[in-house]
Amino acid sequence: MVNRDKALSIPVAGVEVPPLSGSDPLALSCGPAGCDSTCCKNGSPIVLNPYEISMICRESGQSYEDLLDSLESGRAKGFPLVMLPRFPVCHFWSDDGCRIYHARPLACRLFPLGRVFFHGSSYIVLPKINVCTGIEPLPDKTVGAYLSAQNVDTYIEMADQWIDFVADMESLGLTDKPVTSVIFHMLVYSPDTPPATGSFDSNASAEDLFLLRLRTARDQVPRFLSGA
Ligand code: SF4
Ligand code: SF4
Repeated sequence: MVNRDKALSIPVAGVEVPPLSGSDPLALSCGPAGCDSTCCKNGSPIVLNPYEISMICRESGQSYEDLLDSLESGRAKGFPLVMLPRFPVCHFWSDDGCRIYHARPLACRLFPLGRVFFHGSSYIVLPKINVCTGIEPLPDKTVGAYLSAQNVDTYIEMADQWIDFVADMESLGLTDKPVTSVIFHMLVYSPDTPPATGSFDSNASAEDLFLLRLRTARDQVPRFLSGA
């Protein structure tokens, strides 16, 4: 999962950074006795994908409609933009820490690292713009150990499925109209609508339900768009 080409330099927000390997050193002092979570404060909003939204709704017990009331939303190229604000502090932050810790999005699991795509491959990097006040000067752990502790694999797999889905939808020639984004809210983003038209196993894993939702949407979106 961690790509590394020692000769490579990847531009991230205008600054060249090297890709990291699993054996590169990294240790953080996250936790009550260490860093006070600058990553959850004064940051730019985190764009959420529908899998992350479904996990947050499960963990917080909120409906999609209620969740949207506490997030920022917009539209880009016909797709909904659902964003978790972090200014002045993340909506889910409390004095006891993250209120949705077990469902925190991939960006939070990776931080201060980031995942970027460069020439068709994905890389783990440490972007200069990610200000982390708790990086240990003499790390005794590795990037690989950190990513493993953060359980990023499933979130990365679902993010990749989402990226493929977006590319397929874009190939349909979407129009950037409110009705287009409403279709995606209804069919893909809202975990409160059924993930399939027929019967399905409601006890299936969150991942299987998300993948089923994407398969259903691939079939249905073109039909909805033709009538929009
Ligand atoms: S979701 Fe949790 S970990 Fe992520 S920024 Fe908000 S409070 Fe921090
Ligand atoms: S700013 Fe860095 S060290 Fe502090 S809680 Fe966030 S990731 Fe951990």
